[in-house]
Amino acid sequence: MLVHDLATRGIFERIELETFDYFYGTGFGWHHQKIHAELGTLGEFLFGVCFCEHCRANAADAGVPVKSVRETVATTVDEIITGDVPSTLSPERWVRAHPAVADYLAVRERTLESLYADLASAAGDTPIGSYVGMPEPGNEWLCGVDLKRLGTHVDYYCLPAYESSPDAVLEAYHTVEALTSDVPVHVGLLPGQPAVHDGETLETMVVALRSVDVPRVSFYNYGLLPEQSLDWIENASE
Ligand SMILES: [Zn+2]
Repeated sequence: MLVHDLATRGIFERIELETFDYFYGTGFGWHHQKIHAELGTLGEFLFGVCFCEHCRANAADAGVPVKSVRETVATTVDEIITGDVPSTLSPERWVRAHPAVADYLAVRERTLESLYADLASAAGDTPIGSYVGMPEPGNEWLCGVDLKRLGTHVDYYCLPAYESSPDAVLEAYHTVEALTSDVPVHVGLLPGQPAVHDGETLETMVVALRSVDVPRVSFYNYGLLPEQSLDWIENASE
């Protein structure tokens, strides 16, 4: 396995996993828009629920009525497109009203947990971290992530908080932190377009994170940022 291979080379301080979950949707933005219907958060989520043969088999083994779950999800996507179900409806509320779908989603959370258990044992003594905050901080469950469950297998979480103000960064941090147990949450900042436009703002963000004892702050990323941003990082890191 890749993680085992990397870990046994003895040259990496840690291994970070990004979108190692049921990631879906257009959260990263699309250059050419190809969905000409308003799906909203709910529609994108339902459109992204995986019904591959493995997910279906896992759910069937757990006694979930897979066929009707799939029909419910597909029908609802159609109804969102026609406007019969509002695209603004919160996924949480919708799932609560559809217990069989909730069961299907619960199975994939357990599947992901067992995969993370495998990853942790493959990594051995090398710490592993996992990126959180997608599709937005606090709503990781939409990607099949239960922060408490996965927290028993990872050494830390890394939260990209590519925000424009210290308050927004702290809000993202506290939202995730409240959903985790004792797992440290590292925070990533973006000291450039479109998030941060001056060194002073970056400095206040780092100070704010220090004040709540965030154990590690990272910056996205050295290969892409203009030189001035590297100066801001240097000043903020002093
Ligand atoms: Zn699947």
